[in-house]
Amino acid sequence: MKSYRKELYFNIPTRRAFVNITPQVEQCLAESGVNEGLILINAMHITASVFINDDESGLHHDYELWLERLAPHEPVSRYRHNVGEDNADAHMKRQIMGREAVVAITGGRLDFGTWERIFYGEFDGGRKKRVLVKIIGE
Ligand code: ZN
Repeated sequence: MKSYRKELYFNIPTRRAFVNITPQVEQCLAESGVNEGLILINAMHITASVFINDDESGLHHDYELWLERLAPHEPVSRYRHNVGEDNADAHMKRQIMGREAVVAITGGRLDFGTWERIFYGEFDGGRKKRVLVKIIGE
């Protein structure tokens, strides 16, 4: 069995953003040489997400509004976590959007549905963050 591990780095200048990281993940898969197996992609921070959905700008806008209704950033004083911090909403947004994605690898490719793409969701940007890519298979 082959095993591959890599960390991807992101430094998003804005507080929130969605980034299509499918090309970087496909690059990792190519480097791994795995043809049949599984790939795990997870945010290594509790204020960022990795998730799978459609790469469609209207949907990203809808997510932004939906998440902001569920867990508004302002006023930061509404959250008990925000004693010396201002990112309670980012923890909650991460919880909703998820920590990781797992994708089957078939024939050396990501075995996606037609419109599935992998995204990094940033909810407390302005600093360097990591995403783990782990691949096992043969
Ligand atoms: Zn926090």
